Amino acid sequence: MSEFLRKKKIGQIFIEMGVIDDAKLDWALQKQQETNQLLGHTLLAAGYITEDDLAIALAKQFDVPYIDLKDVTVSDEAKRSVPANLLQTGEFVPLEIVNKTLTIAVSDPTNYELIDRLSTVTGYELKYVLSTQSQIRSFLGLPPLTGPPGETAPASGGEGGGEGGGEGSEPQNDDPVSDVNLEFESDGDEDGKADILKQQADQKPIILLVNKIILNAVNKRCSDIHIESWDTKIVVRYRLDGILTEQMTIAKKAGPAIISRIKIMSDLNIAERSVPQDGAFSIKLGKKTVDFRISIIPCCEGECACLRILAKENLKLDLKALGFSDIEYDRFNRAIRRPYGIILVSGPTGSGKTTTLYAALQSLNDAETKIITAEDPVEYKLSGLNQINVKINKTDPDRSLTFGKALKAMLRHDPDIILLGEIREHETADIAIKAALTGHLVFSTVHANNAIDVIGRMADMDIDRYLLAAAFIQVIAQRLVKTICKSCIEEYTPTEEDFKFADLLAPEYKEIKYYKGAGCQNCGGKGYKGRAAVYEILDIDDELRAMIAGGQSLYEIKRVGLEKGMTTIHGSTLTKIRKGETTIQELIRVCAA
Ligand SMILES: [Zn+2]
Repeated sequence: MSEFLRKKKIGQIFIEMGVIDDAKLDWALQKQQETNQLLGHTLLAAGYITEDDLAIALAKQFDVPYIDLKDVTVSDEAKRSVPANLLQTGEFVPLEIVNKTLTIAVSDPTNYELIDRLSTVTGYELKYVLSTQSQIRSFLGLPPLTGPPGETAPASGGEGGGEGGGEGSEPQNDDPVSDVNLEFESDGDEDGKADILKQQADQKPIILLVNKIILNAVNKRCSDIHIESWDTKIVVRYRLDGILTEQMTIAKKAGPAIISRIKIMSDLNIAERSVPQDGAFSIKLGKKTVDFRISIIPCCEGECACLRILAKENLKLDLKALGFSDIEYDRFNRAIRRPYGIILVSGPTGSGKTTTLYAALQSLNDAETKIITAEDPVEYKLSGLNQINVKINKTDPDRSLTFGKALKAMLRHDPDIILLGEIREHETADIAIKAALTGHLVFSTVHANNAIDVIGRMADMDIDRYLLAAAFIQVIAQRLVKTICKSCIEEYTPTEEDFKFADLLAPEYKEIKYYKGAGCQNCGGKGYKGRAAVYEILDIDDELRAMIAGGQSLYEIKRVGLEKGMTTIHGSTLTKIRKGETTIQELIRVCAA
């Protein structure tokens, strides 16, 4: 029943085409309930329709041309535009390129992932026409698949695929997008009242669509979902490994219902559409719970939603898996096992600071250790920790729970280890330093460009330099670099310009073997897969403590730190280049700022 509207529609098309009658349609509707197959495939498997009938009906449903590939010649330009390995998937035939638009023939018009990937790899806009799977495979010289098309696709609603997802790991057959168009064609009420919005949001197609958007993102291990109202459409984009890519576009009219649905899930006010709202919800997928943090903002073209996915499994909590080199790992691991003092991490938003600190807490988390955190907000719940949500109440500041207040309260709970989400003003910095000097191990983050700068930022918060120096154990800066796809890695020689921008002009750097990813199916043609952290780590020893307490310049402190073997972002990235883990381009990128 869940896809009633869509099924009826394609069934109706078959009846209009005169290929089946009402009795066969009824039989197929009944049958597909048991098999969970698409209606078209059910009819095809029963021999009631041909593959051509199916392609013609889908073409009508999606309002695109149907073509017979027997009558087609493919332009050389189109053929050359597509990597050979993608052609081997047998999912499409490239036909022609006109006005920077590549036209392809597909048998499954809901294969958005393919269309996305082709658009990324070729740089062209994509247009598709429909043909049959058999024709496409035979055109490409591939053997026919046994069984009806679609049989190899997994049933929808299952749990996520294996590591890295990959082809066919997501449900693609239950596309409710066309239903949404259908439902909202006659409904132009953009400023609907709450009860109308509620009604719209409770419609099956909307619920299915929002579920699909969320499930796909979780299965792909994305970090964020962006649902944006543009002038003529709703655009859904996912952030994966720090990169934002468009996933689908939806009819503009469905926007308010989608946003309302998300508000209902997040316990927000659906009638309020003119101020920003923040919320949260959790979903259970099999045994795991995935938490979401929601932010909704009113934009000129309608409300936009951003859903941050806080899947615990997205977090590599194994210290060794973060990206530390052996030396860096030893240093960090030694520092976090000190009984008291402060360890500060800096880096831009999205540089993985929180992950590094959580991995440290996780490795220190045992029955004999009391760990309390104060965060804005708590990003990952770890069992065995006491975690406090810091919250600023703008209308009634007395009711705000600031980092400073939370920290004071925490200290009365006799913790061994404290994590403070961020130190940004004097009060918090002052209490944190005093806590670090009275037998607590304190972790926190500071906004600073590099490790040395962390010392400067703390001093700027009007903290006594002597206390500061005494409390410091280690200061860290970190960035994330994209790692080369292992399936398509190849050696190459960077250009002179690359060496110059990477600050690798000395002859010794020409001796290094450099690698990059050529782009393959495994990495969606990007040449990169996954990310790893690179670190700048400075251990504060007695000599450096004396320099900090004595008010020596940051420049001097850096010089001595480097002499003592402080690692830098540049050096740490170079180590990864030598190991064939990342590229010279990534070094240029992370060292540019
Ligand atoms: Zn690859």
